[in-house]
Order: sequence, then structure tokens, then C-alpha cells
Amino acid sequence: MKFCPRCGSGNIGWVLPQDRSKWECKDCGYVGAFIIEDGEIADEIREEYIKNKGKIED
Ligand SMILES: [Zn+2]
Repeated sequence: MKFCPRCGSGNIGWVLPQDRSKWECKDCGYVGAFIIEDGEIADEIREEYIKNKGKIED
């Protein structure tokens, strides 16, 4: 399982199927080579992201 390093979402895929070094997050729009493969770290990122997102929307 792979996760977005910005928002912790598992909803990520390749930007281009031919270029498997670049990932794109369908939830927050992150694009990059770095991804998280540890579900516990992803959970922490997800919590922080949702908290911060809430602050911005308020
Ligand atoms: Zn994301």
C-alpha cells in the first residue's frame, strides 16, 4: 500500500503510466517521486492534514 506524503491518502497513482517514478495524489493534488509506504505514518499525516485543513476553512 502506498500513501501521499502530503495528506496521507491512499488514493494515489502514476501521473503517466509510462513514468512510474512520478506519483499523483487524487485527493490533494500532490505530484512527486516521494511516497509513503508505512500505513502508521500515513495515518499520522492524514490526521495532521485534516486538522490543518479545518483551520484554513474556518
Ligand atoms: Zn495527497
